[in-house]
Amino acid sequence: MNGDKLKIKPGNKPEYRIGIDLGGTKAEVILLAKEGQECFRKRVATPVNTKNNYKSVLETIHTLVNQALSVVPPTDDYTIGVGIPGTMDKNTGMVQHANTTWLAGHYFKSDLEKKLEKEILMDNDANCFTLAEAVGGAATGYKIVFGIIMGTGCGGGLCIDGTIHSGNHGIAGEWGHFSIDPKGEKCFCGNVGCIDTVLSGPGMARSYKKKTGKDLPAEQIVNKARNNDQECMQIFDRFLDDFGKSVGGLISILDPDAIVIGGGLSNIPELYTTGIRKVKKYAYHQNVRTPVLKNFLGDSAGVFGAAWLGCDTGQALK
Ligand SMILES: [Zn+2]
Repeated sequence: MNGDKLKIKPGNKPEYRIGIDLGGTKAEVILLAKEGQECFRKRVATPVNTKNNYKSVLETIHTLVNQALSVVPPTDDYTIGVGIPGTMDKNTGMVQHANTTWLAGHYFKSDLEKKLEKEILMDNDANCFTLAEAVGGAATGYKIVFGIIMGTGCGGGLCIDGTIHSGNHGIAGEWGHFSIDPKGEKCFCGNVGCIDTVLSGPGMARSYKKKTGKDLPAEQIVNKARNNDQECMQIFDRFLDDFGKSVGGLISILDPDAIVIGGGLSNIPELYTTGIRKVKKYAYHQNVRTPVLKNFLGDSAGVFGAAWLGCDTGQALK
């Protein structure tokens, strides 16, 4: 079950909140006290290439939780929230469509609950990002917030009134897997031409390779475009145009109060200038005012969002 089913009622505020942000390369834990103070934080490498990655990750999270608990008095209550790089089927709890492929097909939440001997909250990492930015980050104060991740892949999340809206199937906000190019690349999700294949770092690099036959990472493509390299300029212009189409379309459908962008590509300043002009061009309104914001919490959004899963987020920072 997704975290929103276990929303903590006001007045039932835990003494401590443990948040785990599980990524493809790192796993991080944070321990927050009742008033939001950070009491413990640690980041380790996510076990990969082990005999059994899944089992190793369960062990790693168990160890991180125990380390965080070492500073919690035994009589105090606590919650555990976990953000994962994948979506869970809302009815069965099985992980599906995980970028971290060894997680797919597992009942990760229930396996972790058995290991930790405690009920936990679990949600998609993009949802955790959106929750954190909506509650204590760049989009604080906005009612309907859509979070976009543009990094090694494209994810998204929707937060309404400080609570994650996970949708009928648990896929609300999966903006990255909307197909915008029927002749595009095959996506890991099985679809073709998803936003994920176009507006991610590897997507930009793939477009460049298709055009030139050469390998160049996204960061260098953007740099060379700024220095008037014609091929890079064409790739980058197309990228910003696709960004405009994708985000403009999103605004036309959802009309959120704010959009916040995270992930490595969120550091590209042109997204907030030319990119926003393109968004305005493609959205179904002549004077789009939706703020398109750069994240505030950076790398920390995932772990804060995980810690705040299921809590009355109005209380999170008080
Ligand atoms: Zn896809």
